[in-house]
Amino acid sequence: MNDRRIRSLAIIGGGTAGWMAAAALSKSLQGMGVQIRLIESAQIEPIGVGEATIPPIMDFIRQLGIDEGELVREIKATYKLGIGYREWTRAGHFYFHPFGPASPGIGNIPFQAYWLKMFLEGKAERLEEYSIQTIAALRGRFARPVHAPNTPLNKISYALHFDAGRFAHYLRGYAQARGVQRTEGHVRHVSVRGGDGFIESVGLETGESVSADLFLDCSGLQGLLIEGALRTGYEDWSRWLPCDRAVVVHSERAAPPNPYTLVTARDAGWQWQIPLQHRDGNGYIYSSEFSGDDAARALLLRNLSGGALSEPVALRFRPGRRRAAWNRNVVALGMAAGFLEPLEATSIHLIQRGIAMLLKFFPDRDFAAADIDRYNRTLESEFARVRDFLLMHYSQTERAGPFWQYCREIPLIDSVREKIDLFRSHGRILREESDLFPVASWLAVMVGQNIIPRRYDPLVDGLDSQRIQTRLEELRSAVRACVETMPSHWDFIQNDRVCPLP
Ligand SMILES: Cc1cc2nc3c(=O)[nH]c(=O)nc-3n(C[C@H](O)[C@H](O)[C@H](O)COP(=O)(O)OP(=O)(O)OC[C@H]3O[C@@H](n4cnc5c(N)ncnc54)[C@H](O)[C@@H]3O)c2cc1C
Repeated sequence: MNDRRIRSLAIIGGGTAGWMAAAALSKSLQGMGVQIRLIESAQIEPIGVGEATIPPIMDFIRQLGIDEGELVREIKATYKLGIGYREWTRAGHFYFHPFGPASPGIGNIPFQAYWLKMFLEGKAERLEEYSIQTIAALRGRFARPVHAPNTPLNKISYALHFDAGRFAHYLRGYAQARGVQRTEGHVRHVSVRGGDGFIESVGLETGESVSADLFLDCSGLQGLLIEGALRTGYEDWSRWLPCDRAVVVHSERAAPPNPYTLVTARDAGWQWQIPLQHRDGNGYIYSSEFSGDDAARALLLRNLSGGALSEPVALRFRPGRRRAAWNRNVVALGMAAGFLEPLEATSIHLIQRGIAMLLKFFPDRDFAAADIDRYNRTLESEFARVRDFLLMHYSQTERAGPFWQYCREIPLIDSVREKIDLFRSHGRILREESDLFPVASWLAVMVGQNIIPRRYDPLVDGLDSQRIQTRLEELRSAVRACVETMPSHWDFIQNDRVCPLP
């Protein structure tokens, strides 16, 4: 039989997507004899703003065999237990979206069902009180989970905030140590093969031509290969997600870093604060229909907690996704594959998923259509579920002002409407297979945004109310006791110590 194995792979772009792909592939394809080459232009800086992540990033790091403590030191990372939403639901309001699994059920009755019954009867506290992530985050505490039964300490789920430039640089060292060849060069033209329209080679400004069997387009928003050469098309989702601009700036840290991202709703969008070890990352995501760029810049600078460390940078984007992330012999990753605003910090995760799915359907030089179709359908569905979760945030608020009024009038996608209707009726949460966020996330965000179900699940009436109340009280006290034993987040970063059991 002919050897149809992929022999050469070229990654175009050296931002987060390019170096994540280079690192993961250099490890996973070891021994297959695939030559991996990454080309990055010195003329176009990586976007460099993806600084907040979600828990699956920890699997990515572990699968590469990277030492977590060393990484945290090198990339000036902090830990993240969730997101605090300030002023989002309405003026003066705050709620927390914690990572992590739901609290334990009783038999086959899930936590949210029995908590809801008690809450509606005025016999349970706010949801936040039962979440170790939330209480720890708001008290500035952090510890990794401990391996012990029956303690909320074994439920801690976390992610990182990091300096995106340092993260890419770290992965670059990792990938180069495993044989990835790096070329600093600017791609000037792309050669498409006659007949099947596959990419044959890219031509660099220096005159060098680089050919490969498989190309990864990690060139950022423009999508140099996937769009520039292959005209794959882009599905614009701005009818559901109205923001299309960002202004970003780094600032001095005014206090020890919190183990959570702070999101604050503003007149035409929202502002983030991401605390790192050496500075804060800040940005304002807004809709150009509702704010001018100068006003947005001024608003951001007015609302920093420490002095700005640089001039703010303005960015434009179009929410949506490439119609096919994999087209012929090109797989687009990162901004080249699509972009959804970072409210729930999902873009780096979608890069990770793109890489994982590429490995699952890794091609040979015949590029089987069935593999490509399945890859595209999976990624499409994962992008769409993230979009739905974001849409839910925008559609359910009580905030005043034209932008927020406009958001409330955006027609809901059927699957989002169904989720909200099911929750309103009996507090039930429907989770699709491709949903990235677990039931606990939907619960925290829906309750946080004041969607309070009219009734609880009738099955809860099969449980003794006193037993539920005792369980809730035990859970709440266990959470408090555990948080007491956790070190401060800043102390943990500096000393990385194991949390004792209470
Ligand atoms: C405002 C904002 C905030 C964000 N915040 C988050 C967040 O908190 N969490 C999260 O998960 N994601 C976030 N993202 C998304 C995240 O930044 C990106 O997913 C991530 O940085 C990946 O970028 P990239 O590698 O695709 O592109 P880029 O970083 O833009 O890299 C593109 C690369 O391609 C190279 N290149 C371009 N053209 C050529 C050429 N002609 N020849 C050679 N090389 C070329 C460039 O030199 C560069 O190396 C945010 C995005 C924005 C816009």
